[in-house]
Amino acid sequence: MKRRILLIDDDRLQFRLTEAHFRNFHGEQFELDWADTFESGLSRLLKGNYTACLLDYQLGPRNGLELITKAVQAGCRTPIVFLTAESSERVDIDAMNAGALDYLVKGEISSAALERSLRYALKLGETLEALRQAATRDELTGLLNRREFDRIIREEHERSGRFGRPVSLVLLDIDHFKKVNDTHGHPAGDAVLAEVARRLSGSVRSVDRVARFGGEEFGLVIMEADAATALDTANRACEAVRSTPVVLPNGETLPVTISAGVASIPRDAVEVKELIAAADKALYAAKAAGRNRAIAA
Ligand code: GH3
Ligand code: MG
Ligand code: MG
Repeated sequence: MKRRILLIDDDRLQFRLTEAHFRNFHGEQFELDWADTFESGLSRLLKGNYTACLLDYQLGPRNGLELITKAVQAGCRTPIVFLTAESSERVDIDAMNAGALDYLVKGEISSAALERSLRYALKLGETLEALRQAATRDELTGLLNRREFDRIIREEHERSGRFGRPVSLVLLDIDHFKKVNDTHGHPAGDAVLAEVARRLSGSVRSVDRVARFGGEEFGLVIMEADAATALDTANRACEAVRSTPVVLPNGETLPVTISAGVASIPRDAVEVKELIAAADKALYAAKAAGRNRAIAA
């Protein structure tokens, strides 16, 4: 099946021209879709699963820079090539700053130039995505790393303040993990970390976020959930780890348990720092109470 490119342009002639250019491409053949307003363009870009987007600068009374900014804010990763009616240095820098990957001047577009630009934007988009993964993911477990966790929890904190919604944090720590390393070796410890990470990811909703907080400690950001809901999630996570022994690289099986501490905004904390401290304290209480359990602040 052909990959799809979205053209957002209020001019039907530009759509016809672009279609004609597409038919002249020598390499990959793409399907071209067309949105002729700002609103339909933005919503299709966000929902439409497009390989890339060609975006006009002038969209009726609104402009393409605003559209890119909105799309990027909404988490759009689709590579965008910006189209303008005339060359202007300012617009090209503004477009790149807003998140466009390339820039074409309408009057100067040839089929070859358009094809080159799309190929380039697709390649650059892949590279950026790989860099983004490397910057935000923990390598061993594939979970979000601590930096990304900090960013997300700050963002959720802000959102919860703005809309008066709760947000909850679960901190989890593998029980007696040092003994796993000491008894079975560091590679076995790594395998346990990866498997626990996998089970944690499987025990939360798709909107929730799972991070490696550091070492053998994990963090779950439970969106729009009060402490009771978060405690349910924490108990489910503990059960997911406890229920089946972990298979080590040498084929041996090992029972593993985790402990969890739960805290919520606004119930237990106002600021992010307090939230983390409250969850950490609850985690400590779970350890002190005998491990293999979840406790709320
Ligand atoms: P507790 O039940 O109180 O949590 O005891 P614990 O042994 O799990 O806690 P402790 O903090 O004493 O030990 C954590 C161990 O985790 C020590 C450290 O070597 C190990 N660790 C941290 N990061 C990694 C890693 O990436 N891989 C492996 N294999 N071990 C790690
Ligand atoms: Mg531990
Ligand atoms: Mg620890």
